[in-house]
Amino acid sequence: MAGRRPPQRRARRRRRNLEELEPTQLTTYQPSTAPVPEGEIIIERGSTARDLGPKLNRSAGDIVRFLLLQGEMVMATQSLSDDMIELFAAEIGADVRLVDPGEEQEAELLARYFEDEDEEDEADQRPRPPVVTVMGHVDHGKTLLLDKIRSANVVAGEAGGITQHIGAYQVEWQGNPITFIDTPGHAAFTAMRARGAQVTDIVILVVAADDGVMPQTIEAIDHARAAEVPIIIAVNKIDRPDSDPQRVLQQLSERGLVPESWGGDTITVETSALQGTGIDDLLEQIVLVAEVEELTARVEGEARGVVLEANLEAGRGPVATVIVQQGTLRVGDPVVAGAAWGKVKALVDDHGDHIKEALPSTPVQVLGFSEPPHAGDEMRGAKDLARARTLAEARAQRFRLSGHKPVAATAGARLEDLFEQISRGETATLNIVLKADVQGSLEAVTESLKRLERDDVKLSFVLRGIGGITENDVQLAAASNATIIGFNVRPDRRSRELAESSNVEIRTYEIIYKLLEDLEAAMVGLLSPVYEEVVTGEAEVREIFRVPRVGAIAGCYVRDGRITRGSKVRFLREGTVIWKGSINSLRRFKEDVREVASGFECGIGLSDFQDLKEGDVIETYEEREVART
Ligand code: GDP
Repeated sequence: MAGRRPPQRRARRRRRNLEELEPTQLTTYQPSTAPVPEGEIIIERGSTARDLGPKLNRSAGDIVRFLLLQGEMVMATQSLSDDMIELFAAEIGADVRLVDPGEEQEAELLARYFEDEDEEDEADQRPRPPVVTVMGHVDHGKTLLLDKIRSANVVAGEAGGITQHIGAYQVEWQGNPITFIDTPGHAAFTAMRARGAQVTDIVILVVAADDGVMPQTIEAIDHARAAEVPIIIAVNKIDRPDSDPQRVLQQLSERGLVPESWGGDTITVETSALQGTGIDDLLEQIVLVAEVEELTARVEGEARGVVLEANLEAGRGPVATVIVQQGTLRVGDPVVAGAAWGKVKALVDDHGDHIKEALPSTPVQVLGFSEPPHAGDEMRGAKDLARARTLAEARAQRFRLSGHKPVAATAGARLEDLFEQISRGETATLNIVLKADVQGSLEAVTESLKRLERDDVKLSFVLRGIGGITENDVQLAAASNATIIGFNVRPDRRSRELAESSNVEIRTYEIIYKLLEDLEAAMVGLLSPVYEEVVTGEAEVREIFRVPRVGAIAGCYVRDGRITRGSKVRFLREGTVIWKGSINSLRRFKEDVREVASGFECGIGLSDFQDLKEGDVIETYEEREVART
């Protein structure tokens, strides 16, 4: 990957310089009273003043002058940051919507073909069930609580109980339906939000009474607050002899969540997920909060929803779990989500039953997509199949293009080109897609990176987000000529392959100073060699056995490569690194073995690390130095 550079860069630069010499642009101004186009104006991120001006009925000069007065020196041909575009739009009273490069065409298709959200009629609104996400620190009881709620509140007549795990389920409490997102934790919550989708109406924050407020509790509070979603506290594990609910309330008060019983407005419920106590109380509080929130949705017309998860299933094809947010989704409806489109072949609910239609707040599996969409994609019903297909294909086209060539609008350097550009006396902008494991580290890394900025090196964050490095991140980085920096997070196999094929550099770190050191080195042309980590094996955790005195053993299935005793490993949960170390013991059927190949099951000894869960991934790797040219 080293030393490769888009070949057209030099030519482009020369042209840019020529444009900059044109004298006339800065002197034409529009009167400040000139009319501003009405309605939402779609603007590509990274537009220049010259692109932006005409769309807002202003000249490039107007924008440059305005920004100068704000203390920002930009040229008419220089990419503007989101802030600059929004600032100027606000100044003249224009309603702009920023879209990623290449997305403009899609946004126009959407506007032309699909009903506009803002035009939804008040009169069509009907009450809808709340959608609830359970968050909290690991081991505080989220999963058990979700299981208990589910099994205790299966709709009557459902003798066999629920068989399907589709990512969300609905229960009925005293005639009130409530939808629960089945993947606890904030990784899914933030991943959705980072993509502009918000499905959650209420957050249940689980805090174990024997453990109190912990780091992930605090993060969950931050996330819920950032999303402006009401929080209900479940003080859990009150059956434990060492539980101390008062201490939990005290700690929460210190974070601004003052319980109602103490005169504040935070609802708290004491629960024991283990014994099933307090669960009715919790459900009642959810219903009450939902009433206060007056949650409504349009029931008639084209459906609109969000994809929770999707995959390819043998015999069923692409299967996507969708939460319907507006309208009604029916079998036979043409639909589009991301680059996937199709006609709804079947709708399957959380009991595994085929249903004809899904109303707002209903989680449902949708069969019939051309390919699996991505979690967080918006799903829309279309008037006809042709429209769904046109929109999906416009997106697919953008994904393909951005996979191969950097978009010119977002000029910027990659880490490895940085020094070359600086040494030519140019100001270099390093475009970064930054992914981190938690909000706290995301902020910390951002702040530290910003401190490295100099007059000749600017940083531009194309995206900052929480969670593993996804194919979407890689596509975005490719589209915006950015380097991906992962802090305590990793790309999965598909993202890694996509990064290689689309020439995107991914650098992952676990220590901030190492990252800063690398960046400083890049600025003086001394970038240290890249240690390419070659992933040698990947195993999925299927079950955890706890063996007295030995600790935990993970029953695993080797999905790829081979697992070797003594090799370096890291544990990934939804793409986030949760532990690093090495394999202690490796067994097949009680036999100690040195190596297990893909397609086989094995037991992996976890030494001091106990917190593995079903579905986690154990990745083994080697480090090899990659030569720079
Ligand atoms: P999560 O990581 O938040 O999803 O936590 P889990 O639901 O997996 O629970 C972690 C552990 O705590 C499990 O061993 C549960 O059985 C246990 N646990 C959960 N809730 C309770 C509770 O109310 N009381 C007791 N004593 N144990 C609980």
